[in-house]
Amino acid sequence: ETQKVNPDKVEFKLEKDTELRFEVENGANVVLELSAGQAEIFGAELTKNKKYTFSSGFKVAVFTWHGCQINLVGKTEVAYIAKDTPMTMYLNCHTALEQMRKKAEDDFSIRGPRVMIVGPGDVGKSTLCRLLCNYAARLGRAPILIDLDVGQTEISIPGTMGALSIDRPADIEEGYALNAPLIYHFGHKSPSDNLKLYNLLITRIAESVSLRCESSSRANISGAIINTCGWVRGGGYQAIVHAATAFEVDVILVMDQERLHSELSKDMPNFVKVVLLPKSGGVVERSKIVRRDARDARIKEYFYGIRNSLYPHTFGVPYSEVTIYKIGAPALPEAMLPLGVSAQDSRTKLVPIQPSGALRHHILSVSSANSTEEIVDSNVLGFIVITEVDIDRKIFSILSPTPGPLPRHILLVMDDIQFMDFK
Ligand code: ATP
Repeated sequence: ETQKVNPDKVEFKLEKDTELRFEVENGANVVLELSAGQAEIFGAELTKNKKYTFSSGFKVAVFTWHGCQINLVGKTEVAYIAKDTPMTMYLNCHTALEQMRKKAEDDFSIRGPRVMIVGPGDVGKSTLCRLLCNYAARLGRAPILIDLDVGQTEISIPGTMGALSIDRPADIEEGYALNAPLIYHFGHKSPSDNLKLYNLLITRIAESVSLRCESSSRANISGAIINTCGWVRGGGYQAIVHAATAFEVDVILVMDQERLHSELSKDMPNFVKVVLLPKSGGVVERSKIVRRDARDARIKEYFYGIRNSLYPHTFGVPYSEVTIYKIGAPALPEAMLPLGVSAQDSRTKLVPIQPSGALRHHILSVSSANSTEEIVDSNVLGFIVITEVDIDRKIFSILSPTPGPLPRHILLVMDDIQFMDFK
């Protein structure tokens, strides 16, 4: 059933409950069109006869509940129709969540469902989150999507975590509409790089979500959908348990790992439903390089938009106008610390960074904080890249999505996430 698609149009006839899976060849684009019937991509409905363009490396599944015809134009790595999908089970999850929302609508003492999706890497967690968000939005709900996957977050750039209110299905080509997401600076691509800070930010985001639910009954009824990262052992498992507690989740969907399912069933209080779900055979495993490329693409998209639709600004910022920090000093061995100070405390401490040429290509978050004391607990306003450093005149050249001057002077440097601006 696998076939190579060449520049000419290829037609696929899909029976009900099947999906067309394809991957766009490196360096190519694929144009997709629904010519008959109904179909959806990760829960967002396709418009008939509209052309959707997917760029290099995109992995797509077009699912149909009733049958459809799809045309593809462009080079794909693979393109095949799969009959066996977990979509009915995923739909059942959505239906159960929607019933909980209806209950919350009828009884003000009950709030809407908070569901957390967990599992190892490459099992389709982000995709299931997207499906659940899209199905909810199609019914007029406005759930809060929380993304704790610092390596591959879908609501901001890598190295961050946060929350986004979803009030319409994600755009099929462009993803979620990023209307005023609440984003926090973590600074690394894996929670293991600073677990103390990671857990602290989870607590912080959970507090903001509670406040939002108190002020908006629509958000309160719609509930929250929480995406996590694929680290499910040791500290990663502890972080999952911490997040479940902080967000007071009602449901945990465990994808593709029985051991994790049984551990959570044992460790969670009885009122938390822990459900095991299979992964889709379509989820593609991504190598370290593919993940790195995806991170780079995400950062580039932040500044330049999808297919270069945005025009970022470059301007000079004197050293003296900014204060730069990194969050987290290396943890010292307990024996070297004064009595009563824990080695972990240093992990959320601010480390001042001297302006220098070493900051070239680094990404920095613009903190919303006005003073040093507020920094760790404050969300960020946006991101900049230091593209050049004039050491003699003590001026940074920065790339920014908005024109200068910077809205705030406190900048936080990302530890191991950089961006080379070749434009
Ligand atoms: P991680 O936690 O490692 O970031 P994940 O578990 O969140 O990964 P996803 O990002 O949801 O996994 O999926 C991995 C890739 O597989 C994505 O590129 C997604 O578009 C693709 N994918 C998901 N489901 C399907 C499917 N049914 N058919 C084809 N591709 C799919």
